[in-house]
Amino acid sequence: MSKIKKNILNIKNQLLNKSNNIDEIKLMAVSKSQSVDNICEAYNAGQRIFGENYLQEAIKKIQTINQQDIEWHFIGPIQSNKCKLIAENFSWVQSIDRIKIAARINEHRNGMSPINICVQVNISDEVSKGGVHPDNLRSFIDEMNAFNNLKIRGIMSIPSNTLSTEKLAEEFIMLDKLYKEIKISHPIIDTLSMGMSNDFLLAVKYGSNLVRIGSGIFGLRK
Ligand SMILES: *Cc1c(COP(=O)(O)O)cnc(C)c1O
Repeated sequence: MSKIKKNILNIKNQLLNKSNNIDEIKLMAVSKSQSVDNICEAYNAGQRIFGENYLQEAIKKIQTINQQDIEWHFIGPIQSNKCKLIAENFSWVQSIDRIKIAARINEHRNGMSPINICVQVNISDEVSKGGVHPDNLRSFIDEMNAFNNLKIRGIMSIPSNTLSTEKLAEEFIMLDKLYKEIKISHPIIDTLSMGMSNDFLLAVKYGSNLVRIGSGIFGLRK
């Protein structure tokens, strides 16, 4: 069995063991900087959700692989001149943190089914990081209601770059609280995207239902 397949099965098993609710936890394979061959290997192991950060690289791979049953998620920083290609090639965008960008993607999604959106939340309060400040999340999501071609699904966050389990747990708990709050006013919301290779079990413990795993599936990036 290939290493990639082994890793996917192993992670799925861990997710099954940890989930204390019957709702399934989705696994995204973060395939930034991975070759088409590696992605196909994951696909052949049953993987259908992939996340990409760099647009040009992603478009090439999406077109080469050309599988209609893959769900491609854009998870990287977004410049306004990239909105058209993102709207045309992805079914999800998880890194929305500016209304202007949301408006552009909405505009370029005209005539297609709505694109699924997660608002990125800056939970660690690091200036270097993208994301909406937790205090502004409610009003940000209310503003998104104006866009008919966007389907708001939830929030995504990258926690502090720390080895402290306590600090990470604190941030995951805050995110879960925010998620539950916005769900009350927007019942369509069903996605709490948190947890990466090194912390996904902790994230799941605190309510994540979509984990984003790169190196844990494909090995360390070069
Ligand atoms: C790269 C990346 C990941 C995956 O990180 P790993 O530590 O390799 O699992 C997850 N989410 C986002 C937004 C990323 O950019």
